[in-house]
Amino acid sequence: MGWHAFEEHWDNTFVRELGWLGVRIDPAPVATPSLLAVDDELARELGLDPDQLRTPEGLAVLAGNAVAPGSEPIAQGYAGHQFGQLSPLLGDGRAHLLGEVVDTHGRRRDIALKGSGRTPFSRGGDGRAVVGPVIREYLVSAFMHAAGVPTTRSLAAVATGEQVLRERPLPGGVLTRVAASHLRVGTLVLLATQGSREQLAEATEYTRARHYPDVPADDPMALLVAIVGRQARLVARWMSLGFIHGVMNSDNMTLSGETIDYGPCAFLDQYDPQRWFSSIDHAGRYRYSAQPAMAMWDLARLAECLVPLVEGPPDAAVEQAQEVVESFRTTYDAQRLDLFRAKLGLRTVRTVPPHEDNPADATLVEDLLDIAAAEALDLTGLFRDLARTLREEPTPTLDGITDRERWEAWFGRWLIALDAVRTDGGGVTHHGDRKDVADAMDETNPVYIPRNHLVEEAIAAAHAGNLEPFHALDAVLRAPFVERPSLERYAEPADPGFTQGYVTFCGT
Ligand code: AMP
Ligand code: MG
Repeated sequence: MGWHAFEEHWDNTFVRELGWLGVRIDPAPVATPSLLAVDDELARELGLDPDQLRTPEGLAVLAGNAVAPGSEPIAQGYAGHQFGQLSPLLGDGRAHLLGEVVDTHGRRRDIALKGSGRTPFSRGGDGRAVVGPVIREYLVSAFMHAAGVPTTRSLAAVATGEQVLRERPLPGGVLTRVAASHLRVGTLVLLATQGSREQLAEATEYTRARHYPDVPADDPMALLVAIVGRQARLVARWMSLGFIHGVMNSDNMTLSGETIDYGPCAFLDQYDPQRWFSSIDHAGRYRYSAQPAMAMWDLARLAECLVPLVEGPPDAAVEQAQEVVESFRTTYDAQRLDLFRAKLGLRTVRTVPPHEDNPADATLVEDLLDIAAAEALDLTGLFRDLARTLREEPTPTLDGITDRERWEAWFGRWLIALDAVRTDGGGVTHHGDRKDVADAMDETNPVYIPRNHLVEEAIAAAHAGNLEPFHALDAVLRAPFVERPSLERYAEPADPGFTQGYVTFCGT
């Protein structure tokens, strides 16, 4: 279906109900748009015909050169804590929410453009995005979705044919982002700091009705519980994949629980929990190991917004809100352990009480990660190799381990744990059993991830006019768990020299 026939599908509740929280403004047209990529499957899910998106009429909407009938573009206002400091007014300085549609599964989705020109929230910015970061967001969001991580999606990436001036002139791009919504912690921060109580209550109720319909109305603490739970589970997923978001400011945390804003994000290869890559993160505030604590920090800011909406004595509300934010830890720890148990093939509940040779699963996980850190093992390769040991296949990542004694000790305990799971502690192992475990592990441990050097390679080629590496990597990342012949190079880590010097830049 083309944009014209799509007219009756738009249903822009944000504009209708919270329009005062933004500014109605159309995207600013670009010179000579061309398509870099379209996600056909996502287009169909939305009820759109991917071939139609590739026509000049379809492209015009994706570039911001035309407004589709039924779309009512708006730039949303929001605040945000940037690296711990409150910025009282941020807002969409280079993005336009085109509107909402209910997709073929009945889910309401935002369709928005990023890099689509100046708005009243642009401050000093030019309202534009660069092709490189657009491609990064397109690739990484596609991977995250394929890996089962809640995330905003990318419907299309467009080159504008214009240059954008950064440290040097770079090709401009526009990303079409699809999200459960673009409501952020920062949305409520803006209203709690500068809006009326009624406005704050309205936006909170809109959030509840749209994302947490099972939570009762007028119970802000119940809503906080739900949001904290989703964020805890989300961050646990990031950690299980070695994902570093890079800029976990409160304006980059959704209320829906989706990952948003792939700016200076990166993936760990050599496991180092203290690692970060962002050029603007001078003190490593958003390093890998700090992500759960930083999520809690943002959620504490959200809690502060919701407290004034709680009936009764403020002190009691504050105390309750603190407890809810603290509950992040329990949910996060349990979810992380679940994910890592699955990564290790420990899928069922242990039937043998832990003892020295057969420690608790959590100990097994932490000991493995200690070894990974000490040996700088490639995190993705490590878990694929563990499954390979069960199939007696080559294990390139494990072969690099220098402290063999420590490794063999851990490995022996892991095998005991695997057997303990399935043989009631009897110690009998069936070879076929182990193959099943290996297969189950491969369904949760990706063999392909958007490795930093591969993403950079795709971006550099695209800037030079060659889209082939971008499209090839995109195809690889959409099936991240299935090892395919001839794709070996996509599974290999960068050489250590690359990773040592790797720096990411914000998407500006
Ligand atoms: P981000 O780093 O993309 O999360 O953006 C943080 C804030 O800066 C948001 O309010 C953006 O809209 C704004 N911003 C980022 N880049 C630009 C730009 N090129 N022009 C205008 N505003 C921008
Ligand atoms: Mg942002």
